[in-house]
Amino acid sequence: MIYPWQQQQWHRMMQLKQVQHMPHAVLLYGEEGSGKVDFAQSLATALLCRQPGQNGEACGHCDSCRLIAAQTHPDFSVLKPIPPEKTKSKKPVLNIRIDEIRRLCSKLSSTSQYEGYRIAIIEKADKMLVQAANALLKTLEEPGDQTLIILVTSRPHRLPVTVRSRCQSLRFPQPGEKLALGWLQAQGIKMPEVALKYAHGAPLRALNQHEESLEQRELLAKALLARLNGESSLAYAPKLANLPKDISMGWLMDWVNDLVRLKNTELNSSIINEKNRPYLIKLAQGSDLKRIFALNDMVIGYIRKETIALNLQLVWENLLISWDSL
Ligand SMILES: [Zn+2]
Repeated sequence: MIYPWQQQQWHRMMQLKQVQHMPHAVLLYGEEGSGKVDFAQSLATALLCRQPGQNGEACGHCDSCRLIAAQTHPDFSVLKPIPPEKTKSKKPVLNIRIDEIRRLCSKLSSTSQYEGYRIAIIEKADKMLVQAANALLKTLEEPGDQTLIILVTSRPHRLPVTVRSRCQSLRFPQPGEKLALGWLQAQGIKMPEVALKYAHGAPLRALNQHEESLEQRELLAKALLARLNGESSLAYAPKLANLPKDISMGWLMDWVNDLVRLKNTELNSSIINEKNRPYLIKLAQGSDLKRIFALNDMVIGYIRKETIALNLQLVWENLLISWDSL
């Protein structure tokens, strides 16, 4: 799928295709949640399609398009980070290992089954381990005819320069607010402004945060504003403990960051919890910056700990007490 904010990047790739200057490797980089992986998929499908449309997009019904949809196209592969073998951790670190890259490269160097492109997408390419990146380098240095490697990342600086320098880079900035809001509205998202703010301007992330999560965010807002409203915040701890830890802690970080911003910069500076700006200003004015930073460290500490080792109700009680005494 090509999103409305990716037209420029799409035209650039199609122009290169038209003049037969398609690079052997492209690096799609930019903000998380702007749809880079979807773009990569569309580009691969378009190049493999037998009857692409006028703007170069895949037809969606030829043999090739069907094989891709069924994830069985012999000349197309997708690589993503995976957990290490034999891990017992519930939250293992995901990586792209050398054996995966070797397999991919050998597939890319074998003869095309359909007499066309051989294409590989590497998602979150910054997760390649050093040896894996080195193994890829060989294929990047001596690519076969009609091969395309599409690397996708939101952290391009973490890729070795040797890899980056062999790819044609294509940047995907966050779309303009107007374009993103129009698109979210067309997807049937209620309160698109709020959703987009919470998603830090990334429309796909906003789309994935469905209404349920908006309700959960409301719950956190009520807990954090309880003291200002003369209520007890601790009453919310059991309910907050039922929310997915990393997500709810990430929301709390948004509140903490908003406070820091209001404390350190102008009162009209841009914040995530726009809806609650008057409350946040009140809180910021009566709070101590050192304590805000201490709370910030506390939240990061809890995010890093494995959920299983935590009594989440106690954690939330601690956090709310700290928040109330900022
Ligand atoms: Zn097709």
